[in-house]
Amino acid sequence: MIVVGGGVVGLTTAVVLAERGRRVRIWTRDPVERTTSAVAGALWWPYHIEPVAAARAWALRSLEVYERLAGRPGETGVRLVDGAMGETDPADVESWAAGRLPVLRRATAREYGAGTAVWTRLPLIDMAVHLPWLRERLLRAGGSVEERVVSDLAEADAPVVVNCTGLGARELVGDASVRPVRGQLVVVENPGIDTWLVSTAPDGAMAYLFPQPGRLLLGGTAEDDVWALDPDPAVAEAIVRRCAALRPEVAGARILEHRVGLRPVRPAVRLERTELPDGRLLVHHYGHGGAGVTVAWGCAEEAAALAASP
Ligand SMILES: Cc1cc2nc3c(=O)[nH]c(=O)nc-3n(C[C@H](O)[C@H](O)[C@H](O)COP(=O)(O)OP(=O)(O)OC[C@H]3O[C@@H](n4cnc5c(N)ncnc54)[C@H](O)[C@@H]3O)c2cc1C
Repeated sequence: MIVVGGGVVGLTTAVVLAERGRRVRIWTRDPVERTTSAVAGALWWPYHIEPVAAARAWALRSLEVYERLAGRPGETGVRLVDGAMGETDPADVESWAAGRLPVLRRATAREYGAGTAVWTRLPLIDMAVHLPWLRERLLRAGGSVEERVVSDLAEADAPVVVNCTGLGARELVGDASVRPVRGQLVVVENPGIDTWLVSTAPDGAMAYLFPQPGRLLLGGTAEDDVWALDPDPAVAEAIVRRCAALRPEVAGARILEHRVGLRPVRPAVRLERTELPDGRLLVHHYGHGGAGVTVAWGCAEEAAALAASP
């Protein structure tokens, strides 16, 4: 079978399929380092993804996998890290996380300041390590990855085709309901922060700090229908300012890199089995918004079940 798309969704789906004994080829327009997935922070949290109930279920299944992968952080890029999720109530989280999140409690004033926040331990994934690790895991399971632009899914010469093209699906299958939500990040030298923090101001402005090995990721933005991939210096400055208001030591940190990515947001993730015009099986699997990493394994298992022969 052919999986079109080699971001976190395509790679994870391909790994699940290959490890179930299928012969899997990935066709991808971009090398994994240049996908949206490589831009992600990446904290496990079902943010900006619909439908909410399904996303939470996929996220909790993925959590089990990430917890196991966190046993080998250097190899997989997955670590379990404590931090504060602002403007969130522990009881609300507990209503869906159902005892699955460790050390879940209200953050103290020292941890979060005046607002209400949840303190918990979540997977924090270093995509610079995790994506190449997924690719290697796929190759070890007998799969392959080929750089190739697809202009029609019927080009894929396999009995089963899985469409994991993210925002690319907009053009590839003419789905105007998948739209970009632009996110910008600033990567700085870490001044010694070892917990993550996410905060949303009353006007909706986000600030988040994700410590990754050797660097600190500062975010963020969420701009609907904006396609610009160049980092905006004024936006970067505002991100650093908002983060420094929460953690003053960030103010003078040396900037290492600016990043921009377009979240593939859709009114609902498209996870659906259909047919190509010639009757071959086609599974659509895209539109994971701001949480593709968070839900990757739960979704991949469902996509793999849909891709199983009738
Ligand atoms: C700034 C930012 C921060 C984020 N933070 C988080 C976070 O903390 N946690 C989280 O869970 N998620 C986060 N996300 C969201 C996450 O990055 C996405 O949900 C996820 O990357 C989507 O994965 P994907 O594989 O569907 O898409 P992509 O990574 O975009 O991959 C799509 C693939 O399809 C290929 N493709 C597209 N069109 C074609 C074509 N015509 N032919 C061949 N190949 C094609 C591309 O080359 C690529 O390989 C963040 C996103 C951004 C932008």
